[in-house]
Amino acid sequence: MSPIRILPEQLVNQIAAGEVIERPASVVKELLENAIDAQATRILLELQEAGKKLIRVSDDGTGIPAAEVPLALASHATSKIAAAEDLEGITSLGFRGEALASIASVADVRLTSRTADALEAVEVSVSAGKAEPPRPTSGPVGTSAEVRNLFRYVPARRKFLKADATEMGHITEQVTRLALAYPSVHLAVTHNSRTVYELPPTDSVRARVAVFFGEDLAQGLLEIASEEPAGKLWGLIGPPQLARATTQTQYLFLNGRYIRDRSLGHALREAYRGLLEGGRQPVAFLFLTIQPDRVDVNVHPTKIEVRLRDGHLLYGQLLAAVRERLLGPGITPHVAPPLDLPQAGTQSSDAERNARVREAVADFLRRPQAQAQPRLSLGGRADEARPSVPREHVDVRPPVYSPGAKYGLPGEAPASPTDTPPGELSQQVPAYAPEGEAPLRAVQLHNTYLVAETADGILIVDQHALHERILFEEIMARLEAGPLEAQRFLLPVTASLTDREIAAVEEHREALAHLGIEAQPMGPRTVAVHAFPTLLSRAEPTAVLRDFLAWALTLDAPPTARQVLEKLAHVAACRAAVKAGDPLKREEIEALLARRAAGDLAATCPHGRPTALVLSKSDLEKQFGRDYAAPPRNPEEPLPF
Ligand code: ADP
Ligand code: MG
Repeated sequence: MSPIRILPEQLVNQIAAGEVIERPASVVKELLENAIDAQATRILLELQEAGKKLIRVSDDGTGIPAAEVPLALASHATSKIAAAEDLEGITSLGFRGEALASIASVADVRLTSRTADALEAVEVSVSAGKAEPPRPTSGPVGTSAEVRNLFRYVPARRKFLKADATEMGHITEQVTRLALAYPSVHLAVTHNSRTVYELPPTDSVRARVAVFFGEDLAQGLLEIASEEPAGKLWGLIGPPQLARATTQTQYLFLNGRYIRDRSLGHALREAYRGLLEGGRQPVAFLFLTIQPDRVDVNVHPTKIEVRLRDGHLLYGQLLAAVRERLLGPGITPHVAPPLDLPQAGTQSSDAERNARVREAVADFLRRPQAQAQPRLSLGGRADEARPSVPREHVDVRPPVYSPGAKYGLPGEAPASPTDTPPGELSQQVPAYAPEGEAPLRAVQLHNTYLVAETADGILIVDQHALHERILFEEIMARLEAGPLEAQRFLLPVTASLTDREIAAVEEHREALAHLGIEAQPMGPRTVAVHAFPTLLSRAEPTAVLRDFLAWALTLDAPPTARQVLEKLAHVAACRAAVKAGDPLKREEIEALLARRAAGDLAATCPHGRPTALVLSKSDLEKQFGRDYAAPPRNPEEPLPF
């Protein structure tokens, strides 16, 4: 073994750099954070070759006093803390005093800075680990940190740098985080001398969200705010229909710092429980402000993870704030309390919808049949399905397409119950009996809602949303096994489309074929659909095609094969499903509800709209003043009856 020795300083710094400086984006993060800590109101980030060649951050902040400029590049040198107890209440983004020294050990650095009371700026450069003596120079108040030739002295690291587009992606992520956390700071970014972002100061986080995630997403977000019990929480959250495939659109900021926290991530996900399709992830931009002494930021070199002293309180606070907003007026899939008047501020379409549901429920409760005991309890969950029906019998049965079937609903009952082969669904689910003779299990109201009794309340189903959901699941399940079975038309159905749309048809021809849609350009600006999936016979082929193309043409990046198939399944299911206003036959109602009870269907349709509302018995008891939680009656008051 070699003797123990103290390592040279540059090597020490290179080792330290290994922890925090992984790629150009890490440098960008450190330099932007230094500018914020210096109270900058304007920050310019200039990049060449995705930061591999040059990263320069210039700010109009406090600047560094001339005598201290060389110190800024020394390791363990910081102006942000002085003693151990300062670690207990960190209010700055940096405090380790290592970033500039680390960067200077793996790249060529020039730091120029001037304070407001200095007559000129001071510049120091470090190249190949050697610092030049500081020299006066001209320059504005503020600081400019220039980093050239990243990893020049660490070829192993340099080799691992990715293509410019990839590195720019990482940089953009860092810029996004900072821009969201500090909307009042003017931020400009150029790459290879071209402007990438020019973000004037704003007091609206939503405006910044719009820049990075699009106007549609930004406008769809709901605001949340809560002050108790752990600290101040403010945020913008996406309603379920805006959910994404990944957690990438979840941003959590703690005291101005972007952090990741598994527990709070879990709280967010919990808040959406039952509202998202399996695997979909909420969109959220959350900002927490807590006492600095309630958090330890000194647990991770890049400070992306922190230790929260009131983790459990924050968990509950976040969960409650998000959940309440999601279940609040207008967005509520589980209505509690359901029957009160629309609250002020509710949007009119929501109010209308709520009113329709209330009316439907009231209607239902007025009907004498409603008192009859239903035979089948249609629970919201698969395990509440009628126990006498073995699940697999209901679940695996493919839809029946009898020629006369109106909607091709899964599990549609044959014309006469006696025709039913043993083991078929309609044997399991008691067949339709004429009005008045058999107990009623469910009714259709306003040709739009199906209302049924559940084990502990009332279920109201949006017939379109539910059918759409069923078809979507069905399509996706079948696609796993291969292309959908298609039916060829004798005469093709044609649609006139734009050139861009036709190009998109060509581009996605394979995916369309997988779904059973055979579409071919025919003459100028016309597409002919030659075959269409039998499963979706109710859908208008050109409508499905148009809906799909509308989506395909708005994409910025090429979609994955999976995204294309899912989208096709969405639009096809939507077009093929029964609509609001369609009167349904008893068998169709039963088939829909049986499928719901049997299947493990998510609570929302593929567009994210709820498929069902559940009024629990306790909700109803509250509404009718039967609950024990009601405030005690004043004994002085006369009885109301
Ligand atoms: P830290 O940010 O953890 O203190 P750094 O190595 O990033 O460590 O910076 C060292 C010091 O240099 C800072 O504490 C600060 O005093 C000074 N400094 C760095 N960048 C700037 C800047 N843009 N404006 C003003 N001072 C700066
Ligand atoms: Mg720093």
